[in-house]
Amino acid sequence: MGQAYAHMLMYNMNAFDSSSPRIVIVGGVAAGASAAARARRLSETARITVLERGPDVSFANCGLPYHIGGEIADRARLVVQTPESLATLLNIEVRVRTEALRIDRPRKVVVARELAPGATEFELPYDKLILAPGAAPLRPPLPGIEDPRVLTLRNLQDMDRIKIAAGAAARVLVIGAGFIGLEMAEQLKRLGKAVAVVEAADQVLPPLDPEIAAPVAESLRHEGVQLVLGDAIAGFVREGAGLAATLKSGRKLEADFVVLAIGVKPESGLAAAAGLELGARGTIKVDAFMRTSDADIYAAGDVVESVDRLSGASMNLPLGGPANRQGRVIADHIFRPTEARPYPGHVGTAIVRVFDLAAGLAGWSEKRLAQAGRAYRSTVVTDYQHASYFPGATPLTLKLLWSPEDGRVLGAQAVGADGVDKRLDVIATALAGKMTIDDLAELELAYAPPFGSARDVVNTAGFAAQNARVGLVRPVTELPAERAALDVRPAAVAQLSPIPGAVNIPFPELRARLGELDRSRPWVTVCALGKTSYFAARVLAQAGFDVVSLAGGVRVRPVAKAAAEPVSSAAPVTASAVVSVPAVTTAPASVAAPASLDCTGMACPGPLMQVKARCETLAPGQELEVTASDPGFARDIDAFSRSNGFELLGVERAKGLIKARLRRPAGVSSAVSPAGLPAMPAGDARRKGATLVVFSGEMDKVMASLVIANGAAAMGGKVTLFFTFWGINALRREEPVAVAGKSILDRMFGHMLPRGLGALPLSKMNFLGAGRRMMKHQMASKNLPNLPGLFGAARMAGVRLVVCTMSMDAMGIRAEELIDGVEFGGVADYLASAETTGTNLFI
Ligand SMILES: Cc1cc2nc3c(=O)[nH]c(=O)nc-3n(C[C@H](O)[C@H](O)[C@H](O)COP(=O)(O)OP(=O)(O)OC[C@H]3O[C@@H](n4cnc5c(N)ncnc54)[C@H](O)[C@@H]3O)c2cc1C
Repeated sequence: MGQAYAHMLMYNMNAFDSSSPRIVIVGGVAAGASAAARARRLSETARITVLERGPDVSFANCGLPYHIGGEIADRARLVVQTPESLATLLNIEVRVRTEALRIDRPRKVVVARELAPGATEFELPYDKLILAPGAAPLRPPLPGIEDPRVLTLRNLQDMDRIKIAAGAAARVLVIGAGFIGLEMAEQLKRLGKAVAVVEAADQVLPPLDPEIAAPVAESLRHEGVQLVLGDAIAGFVREGAGLAATLKSGRKLEADFVVLAIGVKPESGLAAAAGLELGARGTIKVDAFMRTSDADIYAAGDVVESVDRLSGASMNLPLGGPANRQGRVIADHIFRPTEARPYPGHVGTAIVRVFDLAAGLAGWSEKRLAQAGRAYRSTVVTDYQHASYFPGATPLTLKLLWSPEDGRVLGAQAVGADGVDKRLDVIATALAGKMTIDDLAELELAYAPPFGSARDVVNTAGFAAQNARVGLVRPVTELPAERAALDVRPAAVAQLSPIPGAVNIPFPELRARLGELDRSRPWVTVCALGKTSYFAARVLAQAGFDVVSLAGGVRVRPVAKAAAEPVSSAAPVTASAVVSVPAVTTAPASVAAPASLDCTGMACPGPLMQVKARCETLAPGQELEVTASDPGFARDIDAFSRSNGFELLGVERAKGLIKARLRRPAGVSSAVSPAGLPAMPAGDARRKGATLVVFSGEMDKVMASLVIANGAAAMGGKVTLFFTFWGINALRREEPVAVAGKSILDRMFGHMLPRGLGALPLSKMNFLGAGRRMMKHQMASKNLPNLPGLFGAARMAGVRLVVCTMSMDAMGIRAEELIDGVEFGGVADYLASAETTGTNLFI
């Protein structure tokens, strides 16, 4: 009784008499507390009692992950109201640690009991009962799930448990890559833990479409979170002091503890036992005023289903906003029945921050529309969140789904470092107002350079959709095989990440070079983000070509199997910049003050061009701080610095911006090369080592590569093995890894290609593997090194194993199919390595 009794003392009983309406609320957090507060504002005489099973009321569930990670430092900030404050401010009786056990509907009483040893049941009569018990985290009956190290997160006590577990843990496994799972992954990483995330779907954030979720996955991987997609949890087993999770594929992942975040289940047991009508998934059915099948019992929050404003169907949407608003509707209906407005239903708006990126949706996704068989069209645009010339501009991708019949907006998703919330809110408002793509095109949104653009990305999405609707452009979401591809990106970019089979004519040259294109063929125009390809498609269409345009471009739609990695590389700069004349070294008299360069709002290769130009004027020893928003810049600046002899002092990411600091070496004079960049001194230590392209996937050739690599490493040089095409087979895991979401062709490739070192064929006389076995035997008998031994030695010697991401894409190989410890890179990485090592071989 103790604590609850203390709260009751603050409750002013004198305000009530026998005619006071008695309101009982089960659950005192989002929906319950909101109903209680509104009820008091509408009636000073109502006798309001809140029963709450836990020790807290009105706490910020949504803030729990952020206290675990330390971003919300003060735990007390999560407690929005206490039983005392609700009693003092609202004169509400709050009984914490008290559970509602039964509802006696004929007698209109709730039977409850304090959760204290020896406490007895008591009855609370009600005139109106409000059920707001929420939803509990799912814990499927899997083997080992009862292990105390398999934790879930719903309330402050769960949060405390996870915080304590995290204190002693090195490795954490998060099951579920939904909103809460990814928030947890981010915060645990913030604490320096090794974090792996397992998700049954083949993408993170399953409610989103794959191309919008893909940058989030990339960001997680970049931050060192291991992602295991397309694989589900099968059970847990003790493994020494730790815990191992077994997956459906047979894979095992070890961790010190597990956070299970795979969804929630409505807590509708009380309602079910009382005979209230339930929906298909155990939710409580309610009408537009949140009344259950009993007119004196209301329900709100995660436990109910509400109407989807697009389809009119009822469904559960366990989110904080709806819960709060529904609580308010109930109080309004109880105390102002004639004026109360019905709950209009939901559009489904959600957002999450994952490291530097925010991603979210409002309304329906393409997946959902397709599953429901609804007619839709999709438009993807990428633009900056505010004027591109204003510092801090970062790209934002907005995907709009709309009805081909009347142009009505059906949903939208957005991803970017900044401004995602604002665009989703605009679209959520548009959805509530049943607006069309024409309305979006005409919206007048707040604009000044620090906040937006004269043509906001929402307007642009509206324009693009209008263009598609009236047939000015025919967008496609994948490269159609029957069409010739015209790549209109800058030549340097196209060389670095070529689109196989595509003709490259940079857009500025297109009108003059139209004669080079075969008019009898159908064409598809392609660029990085979809905008220039639209411009190009207009040029071609007006010249009489049959043309479609790749919406979103190759950066947004890597699923297009364009075999194109994100457009980013330092190579065009570095290749021309490095010359081999010996540098004249002089000690600088004094070091010039650091310089800075703002490259935000520039797409690749713009930032590198700027850096190159600025570097030419740097004094010896002078530092340059570059700020860029192009996501590929972090890797590019590393490659640029390595191949041009600059010291890269640090690369930091914050709020979608990349800040890199580099320094011209103090001992290198400025008069060094035609390009003005410090030349690589001949015979310099950096020229030691080797860079080998391992193209072949044959045992003897991979072996030869490793022999050379180990030799070069032994001589003290840096060694990089750049695995491309068939060579990647050497790095595949030997055991099959189930990866969902692969195309039939990719799966066929996966079956046909050898898995790992042991399965590689011999380049000659393989004889279906017999030759390979003979060779292995031969080498063993002569005590010659074997392939696994050479490989192990190479790893011990610190040889870098870089896998070409473009080749992976082409061959349908995913990161999780490769052995641990490999790096992923592109042409820029190879060129940078090649330029700093003496030996460069293609095997
Ligand atoms: C970690 C986390 C992060 C989240 N982040 C977001 C977010 O960023 N955005 C968003 O929109 N939503 C978020 N949510 C979801 C949001 O918190 C919920 O949708 C919202 O709290 C639901 O409100 P509710 O009142 O229905 O249930 P709850 O807030 O869960 O409250 C229900 C209360 O009822 C009590 N109760 C249950 N049964 C009984 C009983 N028989 N007797 C007495 N008491 C009982 C429970 O103890 C519980 O405290 C998050 C949720 C979690 C757990």
